Amino acid sequence: MSFTVHGLAVSRGIAIGRAVIVASSRVDVAHYFVKTDQVETEIERLRSARKAVVEEIGRVQHSLGELGSNDAHPELSALLDVHLMLLQDEQLTNGVKHWIVDRHYNAEWALTTQLEVIARQFDEMEDPYLRERKADLEQVVERMLRFMRGVASPVAAPRPAAPDGKSDALFDPSVEVPLVLIAHDLSPADMLQFKQSVFAGFVTDVGGKTSHTAIVARSMDIPAVVGARSASHLINQDDWVIIDGDAGVVVVDPSAILLAEYGFKQRQGEVERERLSRLKNTPAITLDGQKIELLANIEQPEDAVSALKAGAVGVGLFRTEFLFMGRNGKLPDEEEQYQAYRRAVEGMQGLPVTIRTVDVGADKPLDRTPVRAGEDHLNPALGLRAIRWSLAEPTMFLSQLRAILRAAAHGAINLLIPMLAHASEIRQTLALVDRAREQLDARGQACGPVRLGAMIEVPAAALTIPLFLRYFDFLSIGTNDLIQYTLAIDRADEAVSHLYDPVHPAVLQLLASTIAQCRAQGKGVSVCGEMAGDVAMTRLLLGLGLRSFSMHPSQILAVKQQILRCDTVKLATWAQSVLVAEDPAALMAD
Ligand code: PEP
Ligand code: MG
Repeated sequence: MSFTVHGLAVSRGIAIGRAVIVASSRVDVAHYFVKTDQVETEIERLRSARKAVVEEIGRVQHSLGELGSNDAHPELSALLDVHLMLLQDEQLTNGVKHWIVDRHYNAEWALTTQLEVIARQFDEMEDPYLRERKADLEQVVERMLRFMRGVASPVAAPRPAAPDGKSDALFDPSVEVPLVLIAHDLSPADMLQFKQSVFAGFVTDVGGKTSHTAIVARSMDIPAVVGARSASHLINQDDWVIIDGDAGVVVVDPSAILLAEYGFKQRQGEVERERLSRLKNTPAITLDGQKIELLANIEQPEDAVSALKAGAVGVGLFRTEFLFMGRNGKLPDEEEQYQAYRRAVEGMQGLPVTIRTVDVGADKPLDRTPVRAGEDHLNPALGLRAIRWSLAEPTMFLSQLRAILRAAAHGAINLLIPMLAHASEIRQTLALVDRAREQLDARGQACGPVRLGAMIEVPAAALTIPLFLRYFDFLSIGTNDLIQYTLAIDRADEAVSHLYDPVHPAVLQLLASTIAQCRAQGKGVSVCGEMAGDVAMTRLLLGLGLRSFSMHPSQILAVKQQILRCDTVKLATWAQSVLVAEDPAALMAD
């Protein structure tokens, strides 16, 4: 029966495909398709894993027997029997085979998919004893996965994206329909992992519009809905699903009429993209002759390709934290970072790259570590995040600074510091930049000049702009956090997302005064939060005097189209009326 689930629209477009439900704890499992002649190899990997786990359990049973401790451990013994039984269970083995043979999933993906199918059945059981067997099944699968991790697939790693930017796996002839991923939650690092994957769209139960998970989804330029509450429970493995990323709606098991309607919308979207692509080489100049700088936000050096493809005139924000996340505590060293920054700089072919120092914390944890005991009352968004963490870890920070300064020998780099609020933080940061340069000089290692910039994303910073202008060459307004901290709304919490208001008068005052003060002093100012890529905000930002916007490459052409239709003189007068309005949102459509 068809039904809809509502969430928050975070990445535009329509995706139609079959649902793949992924449990949060299993998102790091590799997801890729195997070719027909590789199917047997994958089945063999599963057989070996199962055999290895059976033998492992057999050894434990044997040692229990030898110790004569079987009687002393009747529960353990019974548990091992249950595990052995589950391993032989036909629903598991046949189900997994089905995903490999019929859908060409790799072995790990097939195993976790079937686990989800059976786990649901356990959840629905009345008998609490049987319900609890779900945990045993999960353990058995975990053991098999662990074994398979030690024996890498000889088949394939995830394949690189096809030239048109979509995953070529979607066009694998053995695969007839696109797949959409449904999960309770995905961390930004998980999301990044799916960047080169087979999925045509995403739905998560949790998350706000400017959560970092949503930001990465947007950078992938595929339809996504977050904050869809119980979607991962309501949708079943393999259900047909339509994701409407413009409206924030997920249609499950759609009727033929709905499928046709959304198919039409999907094709319309493709036509619109093609039309916009013609603007790539058109300079972003308003009707009254104002030249507007359109820059790209990137997460990985390789994103430089899509930045150039979209006609960006530089990178306005390289979120370097994605190099640091999901590595089980092993941070990238100076050399690894230097190579990454150099690749970004060279990838931009002489255009400037703004590298932001690491901003982990809040909804961007270094690893998927659970909250430590006794710390669940803390609010990570107000804790050791961004520059605060960097200053608390000077060795790590110095190695990042050295890597950036070394990369600056290969092209124009702007060094951007996140989340500053205090004069003392500014002075400490700049002292460390000097120290990093001295260290490189002492080593005789080449480095280049950098322009220094600060993110304005805490109200305290926005209210002390003269201090920042004394120390920095340019400012970049991080509206995602500026809104979060001004309105006291957790940007990752869908429960309060209706209060997350980019045009709240307080936010607009901070934005307007920051832009005005920078312009008055002839200093560069840009917006690199999600607001910059939202076409509904372009006129207002131009009217407030903004001339530099940084956004996901996929948003650049639509914003450029809007800019080409604007007259900043007229918009300046209108923006002043929005600024003093009690309800600015009501004037936005004027
Ligand atoms: C912001 O806060 O607006 C910003 C660009 O930084 P991030 O989204 O990475 O916090
Ligand atoms: Mg921020």
